[in-house]
Amino acid sequence: MNVSIIGAGVAGLCCASELVDRGISVTVIERSASLGESACSWFAGGMLAPYCESESAEPAVVELSTHSIDWWDRHVSSVCRNGSLVVSAARDQRELRRFARLTREHEQLDGAALGELEPALEGRFEQGLYFPTEAHLDPRGALAELVEHVRAQGGNVRFGEEVTATELLESSDTDLVIDCRGYSARVELNSLRGVKGEMLVLKSDDLALSRPVRLLHPRHPIYLVPRGDGVFMLGATMIENNERNRISTRSMLELLSSVYALHPGFGEAEILETGVDVRPAFPDNLPAVQRRGNIYYLNGLYRHGFLLGPAMAMRIADEITGEQMQSGEIARCG
Ligand SMILES: Cc1cc2nc3c(=O)[nH]c(=O)nc-3n(C[C@H](O)[C@H](O)[C@H](O)COP(=O)(O)OP(=O)(O)OC[C@H]3O[C@@H](n4cnc5c(N)ncnc54)[C@H](O)[C@@H]3O)c2cc1C
Repeated sequence: MNVSIIGAGVAGLCCASELVDRGISVTVIERSASLGESACSWFAGGMLAPYCESESAEPAVVELSTHSIDWWDRHVSSVCRNGSLVVSAARDQRELRRFARLTREHEQLDGAALGELEPALEGRFEQGLYFPTEAHLDPRGALAELVEHVRAQGGNVRFGEEVTATELLESSDTDLVIDCRGYSARVELNSLRGVKGEMLVLKSDDLALSRPVRLLHPRHPIYLVPRGDGVFMLGATMIENNERNRISTRSMLELLSSVYALHPGFGEAEILETGVDVRPAFPDNLPAVQRRGNIYYLNGLYRHGFLLGPAMAMRIADEITGEQMQSGEIARCG
């Protein structure tokens, strides 16, 4: 069987990797000339943090992410299993208590324990939550490694070609198409919407963190994900609109003032990059696979593309190898 996958974002590359692992012939076709040029996945923090996410996500997100960290560990080299940390300013302790109530698998830390875990934050916060089983990765490096993996297993990844599923099924030896176009598939997937996310990449030679840190705030919560060599991803806004290419002054101000509150040392950091894209989301904010004839649509990964990509890819691979899903059926992730 020959499977063509449209889109080399995290959804397409997870599917391709899972299918080549099972001996299926795969071709990934990406419209951009290079990896990440027009993919939401390029701007992700790379947090694999199911328990922190359960503060606002459905229980299905935690259930589906069970094998995610191990899956990434088998496929890429940048997985860091140092857990994650959640803190809040003394005046926002209610936020921390609320977060603790809504999540599980965490340990309560006092200021001293927090400082031991992250010396850069010593003396800055009186309390925190530590989620020891969570992990993070470098999303850009991870996508590149998946491309290498697919090619090494005999799959094909082509860049610079914009295609439709119908064209592929009509004109080549493609038996099945998996449509992983992210937000670009909204024309066919009517209920898909975009949730704008803005981020920055910072560099500080003076500050080091070993794990993602979330700073809770009633209006401007942020997270900071270490990428090594003094580089950090600072994210992210969550705005209900479809604008893909403009970071607003207000968003930048809010992100930067929050990171300054996390540690004033970030006031001296260099801004290496700003980034914007929209997270593709269905109304329930859960991913879904839909089959229409010989086309599978995987979409709606919302803010969980790296966290849930492996589970959704395994689900599609199960369907394809077992041919269980009937045309038209929608597999919700729950
Ligand atoms: C600021 C920010 C931070 C985030 N942080 C995290 C995080 O920490 N952890 C996490 O799990 N998730 C995170 N996410 C969410 C995650 O990035 C998304 O869920 C994920 O990127 C969606 O992946 P996708 O493959 O569906 O879409 P995309 O990454 O957008 O990929 C779709 C690809 O399809 C290509 N394409 C479109 N049309 C065609 C065509 N006709 N022919 C060929 N190619 C085509 C596009 O060029 C693109 O490369 C974050 C998102 C944002 C914006």
